Amino acid sequence: MPGLMQDWPLTLDKVLDHAARWHGDREVVTRLNEGPITRCTYADIHRRAKQFSHALLGHGIAREDRIATLAFNSARHLEAWYGIMGLGAVCHTLNPRLPVEQLAYIVNHAADRLILADALCTPILRQLLPRCPTIERVVLLADEAELPADFPAISYESWIAGRGSDCKWGDFPEDTAAGLCYTSGTTGDPKGVLYSHRSNYLHSLIALMPDVLGISGRDAVLAIVPMFHANAWGLAFAVPAIGAKFVLPGAKLDGASLFDLIETEGVTLSAGVPTVWQGLLQYLEKERKHPATLQRILTGGAACPESLARAYQERHGIEVRHAWGMTEMSPIGTVNVPPDLATPALRQGRVPFGIDMMLTDDAGRAVAHDGRTFGHLKVRGAAVARAYFRREAEDILDADGWFDTGDIATIDEAGALQITDRAKDVIKSGGEWISSIDIENAAVAHPKVALAAVIAIPHAKWGERPLLIVQPKAGEPVTAEELLAFLEGRIARWWMPEAVQFVEAIPLGATGKIDKKRLRAGLATN
Ligand code: AMP
Repeated sequence: MPGLMQDWPLTLDKVLDHAARWHGDREVVTRLNEGPITRCTYADIHRRAKQFSHALLGHGIAREDRIATLAFNSARHLEAWYGIMGLGAVCHTLNPRLPVEQLAYIVNHAADRLILADALCTPILRQLLPRCPTIERVVLLADEAELPADFPAISYESWIAGRGSDCKWGDFPEDTAAGLCYTSGTTGDPKGVLYSHRSNYLHSLIALMPDVLGISGRDAVLAIVPMFHANAWGLAFAVPAIGAKFVLPGAKLDGASLFDLIETEGVTLSAGVPTVWQGLLQYLEKERKHPATLQRILTGGAACPESLARAYQERHGIEVRHAWGMTEMSPIGTVNVPPDLATPALRQGRVPFGIDMMLTDDAGRAVAHDGRTFGHLKVRGAAVARAYFRREAEDILDADGWFDTGDIATIDEAGALQITDRAKDVIKSGGEWISSIDIENAAVAHPKVALAAVIAIPHAKWGERPLLIVQPKAGEPVTAEELLAFLEGRIARWWMPEAVQFVEAIPLGATGKIDKKRLRAGLATN
């Protein structure tokens, strides 16, 4: 017997409708890639997103069509998301930092019809477009005056100018596809995660819970995580849904630029990967500055080093929440909220309502949640992928519906997850697993270390042993002996790196994480 409640499909047009109707004059601030700050409101975003929908309809865009975006965080990019999704078309975010061959593969695989891009990305487009026959038109997220003279594109502003703001949104089932985001593809071809309206709607409610992001309408939220990285961690929906001020930083994510935005816009909460927080911290320390309004930061995408959490909490009084997730999870999986500022959130935390997780051994049997036993981390939930786009025939869930994250982890008695490694990064020494993440975190706590990465090297007796690769801070040379002495007592004795290698710069991947694949490849060619 069906319940007798209203038919209210969980579609994302409702998010912006709500923001415009009930928080219409709340500000959305953008630092354009070119430098200037622009300001508008949710009511403006709503009106212009509808105009954009009209432009799409005029081009013949229909439900299920894929529209690519190659852009940093901005109000125009946000309008484009809602304008596309409101029609039931699919917004496909592209990461401008990916190699062009990978972008071409992704665009062709998705068969994108249009591409919307920042003017800054025209050099990429020049290389990309000749390889992408499905693209019918390029729209630059710019004014007509900003169009490069010799580039065949139309400007977003001239495309939406004069169009009505009455376009009808929604009116399709809640499981309709809304967004498409390819995973970085560390092995094999990139795989497309196809979010639905329902999954993103529910994910927003999860993100807003107090022990997750806990965003309030009084917050000013700086979305450092780019809109092309893992669904922008859900911020593009959660922030308008709650009516918080939204600050979008464009492409400049260095410490000085971020500090400036935090100060001028009174940012209270922000989210980004640890390397971004390291950059901001280095700036704060060098310039002896303090971000007075910032109360809370969310770090995720890679493990949060203890030294980083301590520096923000103890020196600046800013709470550091440590989140784990992945593109396939929309992406929030767990969050660790520190009990107080003296306690850094080192584990990745607990699952919120709406997500479930478990650990298994190699044979798929559940292992104990004792904080010590390593296992394969598996997840389920309404915002977790069940298949990849155009690979629907491949089963990615086990018989009980669990998705294997590819991460190795422990869960303690209190339910707190700790990621030890990606399964492919784990170091197997004498039959036991060594956590590369734990050694990296211990090494990066050394005052002269800027970044540290640990990878496995073959060993005749033990199978594999850890190699510590270190990028020292500029002008602060450090020796292997100094580092190994520093690690004594901080990690298990048998985890001690076999050797230490110094590099000028540790390579970062397209989402700002340490690129171990390149480190391993570099080692193989040495
Ligand atoms: P992506 O889909 O690109 O966001 O990558 C997801 C992967 O990043 C996860 O499967 C983890 O291996 C890693 N990851 C994300 N957050 C964390 C974290 N807090 N600690 C350790 N690893 C993380």
